[in-house]
Amino acid sequence: MDVASNIKHIEAQLPEGVRLVAVSKFHPVEALRQAYDAGQRVFGESRAQELAVKAEQLPGDIEWHFIGHLQTNKVRQVVKHVSVIQSVDSVKLLRLIDAEAARLDRTVDVLLQLHVAQEEAKSGFAPSELLEAAGRGELDGLTHVRLRGLMAMATFTDDETLIAREFSTVEDTFKALRATYMASNDAFSEISMGMSDDWHIAVQHGSTLVRIGTAIFGHREY
Ligand SMILES: *Cc1c(COP(=O)(O)O)cnc(C)c1O
Repeated sequence: MDVASNIKHIEAQLPEGVRLVAVSKFHPVEALRQAYDAGQRVFGESRAQELAVKAEQLPGDIEWHFIGHLQTNKVRQVVKHVSVIQSVDSVKLLRLIDAEAARLDRTVDVLLQLHVAQEEAKSGFAPSELLEAAGRGELDGLTHVRLRGLMAMATFTDDETLIAREFSTVEDTFKALRATYMASNDAFSEISMGMSDDWHIAVQHGSTLVRIGTAIFGHREY
């Protein structure tokens, strides 16, 4: 895998304003180093321990994004290292991150994860559930978390119509939140969606952050 040329190839196709998150989970530090040397500074990891180990071995100017399911007992380990937690799937988790960031006297950017795919195993808020929680004020009063936007995954399928429909649900939910409960939050501006096989569709539906692993680093060995 020529990591550097894969990154260049993707970057050349990304519309202006869309940033690339290099999803490096399960890949060794040497692979991340190649991406770093090619200029990549934003990396996504999905496991707390792996993120901590890599963050300690790689340069300090990397922006780490946590993109996996975050267990409450791993919040402390993750908050310490990340710029963004993309995968916040409950109000309880959001509050815990806020408390931990306060304890460390720092601010963490957060994306709320929406569940729009057909697989039950994927996590996240249902769109209506998130709008209702916002309406009840459950996203208010955060002091050390900045709500930056939404994250989502589409169904794993070849059906591009279905994928497009799911991404447009995310875009609609984002716009609804921004027009109402987030109207006074200028930082609420990001939609993270699109992976190796569906990012072309995602950017047509307002994605500002694409999370790409396989198309950069090759297949993962679990
Ligand atoms: C692994 C992962 C990706 C990257 O998937 P690829 O198909 O390898 O590009 C993106 N987002 C999340 C949440 C992931 O867990």
